[in-house]
Amino acid sequence: MEIAIIAHDGKKEDIVKFLIKNRDILQQEKIQFIATGTTGGRAEQAGFKTRRMLSGPLGGDAQIAGRVAEGKTQMVLFFKDPLSSHPHEADVNMLIRVCDVHNVPLATNEATAQLLINAIGQLS
Ligand code: PGA
Repeated sequence: MEIAIIAHDGKKEDIVKFLIKNRDILQQEKIQFIATGTTGGRAEQAGFKTRRMLSGPLGGDAQIAGRVAEGKTQMVLFFKDPLSSHPHEADVNMLIRVCDVHNVPLATNEATAQLLINAIGQLS
C-alpha cells in the first residue's frame, strides 16, 4: 500500500509527531510512503523511508495527484494549514478532486488521518 504524506509548512511539526505516534502501524513492510519534497525530508529525519517528489509549490502535489489517478497511491494524508495561503492552491484543489474522482481515502486534517490509520491498524 502506498500512502502519500503532505504537510503545509505550518503543519510539518504536526505530521512528524503524527508519524512517530503511529510508528508501530506505519512501519510495516506492506506500507510505502511517498511525499512532497520538504515533508518527505522531515519524515526521513524521523526515520521514515519516503519516495520524495518535488516540493509542493514546485509541482509535488500534482505529481502525487498523477499517482493517485494511475492507481499507484492508495491513501493521501494531507495536513493542510487553513490559516495561511499557498501559491499552489490550484494544485492542492486538483489533488483533492483527483482523490474524489478515484475514490481514494484522503485526510486533510490530523483527526481524519488518525481514523484512517486506526483502520489500517485493525486490518493488520
Ligand atoms: P513540501 O510541500 O512538503 O515540499 O513543503 C507541501 C505543500 O505545501 O504542498
